[in-house]
Amino acid sequence: MEFSTIFEPFRIHSVEPIRLTTPDERRAALEEAHFNLFSLRSRDVMIDLLTDSGTGAMSRDQWAAIQHGDESYAGSPSWELFKEAVQEMFPFRHVIPTHQGRAAEKILFAMLGGPDKVIPSNTHFDTTRANIEFTGAQAVDLVIDEGRDPASRHPFKGNLDPVKLERFLTEHGRDHVPVIMLTVTNNSGGGQPVSLQNIRDIRDISLAWGIPLFLDACRYAENAWFIRTREPGQGHREVSDIVREMASLADGMTMSAKKDPLGNIGGWLAMNDDELAAQARTLLVLTEGFPTYGGLAGRDLEALAVGIHESVSHDYLQYRIRSTAYVAESLADSGIPVVQPPGGHAVYIDAKAMLPHIPPLEYPGQALAVALYETGGVRGCEIGSVMFGRQPDGSEQASAMELVRLAIPRRTYTQSHMDYVIEVCQRVAEQATDLRGFRIVREPPALRHFTADFEPV
Ligand SMILES: *Cc1c(COP(=O)(O)O)cnc(C)c1O
Repeated sequence: MEFSTIFEPFRIHSVEPIRLTTPDERRAALEEAHFNLFSLRSRDVMIDLLTDSGTGAMSRDQWAAIQHGDESYAGSPSWELFKEAVQEMFPFRHVIPTHQGRAAEKILFAMLGGPDKVIPSNTHFDTTRANIEFTGAQAVDLVIDEGRDPASRHPFKGNLDPVKLERFLTEHGRDHVPVIMLTVTNNSGGGQPVSLQNIRDIRDISLAWGIPLFLDACRYAENAWFIRTREPGQGHREVSDIVREMASLADGMTMSAKKDPLGNIGGWLAMNDDELAAQARTLLVLTEGFPTYGGLAGRDLEALAVGIHESVSHDYLQYRIRSTAYVAESLADSGIPVVQPPGGHAVYIDAKAMLPHIPPLEYPGQALAVALYETGGVRGCEIGSVMFGRQPDGSEQASAMELVRLAIPRRTYTQSHMDYVIEVCQRVAEQATDLRGFRIVREPPALRHFTADFEPV
């Protein structure tokens, strides 16, 4: 029998209070934060959808595993357990733990980047792009055209366009392209999945050109669930089996364990190349730590080993993907433009379509995100010209899309919390024509969305 109510496959074991705030309190908090939602105190937020990164709830078994943590500096059994859990899913020869995903990126691009290099991806995540550009290299997005069209219903809008990639490689030449990156799911492109067929096609190109393929695999489990449910011929497979095939098509990966591995902290870099791995471990020791803990405590490694196993549970993924889709469908039903079809970890509201009266460089996404907070204490995240508009030369260019991401922490909120979020969005949509844009009054040279100050236009 099929039921339409989303069944959360867990009971609540320990609760965290949510402080209720008034609109006046929230307006004061916004002023104090210079309208940057990253600058708010989390105690002033009622439903925090800023990110799904490290914000999920750990399971009973993960908390229990924490008690097993062995804090030996070198060769801890917690490390063995972690490494086995990673390699069971991602059978790369070398696993290098890091404190989070960007630390893995920093090490990878310190080795492969440099001023004469260009690095393609479907869409580089913001920290990936920043780490590439920091070395003087260029980061280029080659997602399929459907991936830039919020209304397109293509089932795998995260696909990297093989034709664009071939053209790109012909233009730049093998020597200038040290690695091809593939982000699964495509976070900055709306959390959209990449098909197994696309990974195979990109693999063929990578082999033909002799250029390694690395996955930015943060949401491997959600991506594999989409492959299982949307890709012809994949419906009978275990998610863990699909994940292993995804990994087998790549030469290495970067990972943020704050995403699908259900951790609050952690990451890793993995690869097959022995020489590159040796070089990476040398860099690791400089900033992260010894290669058997890499910036993590033994207890973190234990919690992640359990989280990796839980992440591919079909009951969990069914609930996870269904509850994200529920929010997107409810918003769409009330006439709010959202990126279609819904991705795995987040719902993306198309602020450009919702606020056509605000020009892109007055940041419609920022205006919408601020309004959601002011109206209902819901914190989302602008993914548009604030995040991507600033070019390496300091000029400004509107981003292809102006989105507000409502990222859904794993196993953290209930369906009634999501019903509240939907209601807040509906209230804001009713006053959409009253919303005004923003200007940036102060910004750092890179990753400005984290710390810039804004004022209303
Ligand atoms: C979060 C994320 C990263 C960076 O990981 P951190 O753990 O936040 O440093 C890289 N790529 C993608 C796709 C991500 O979602």
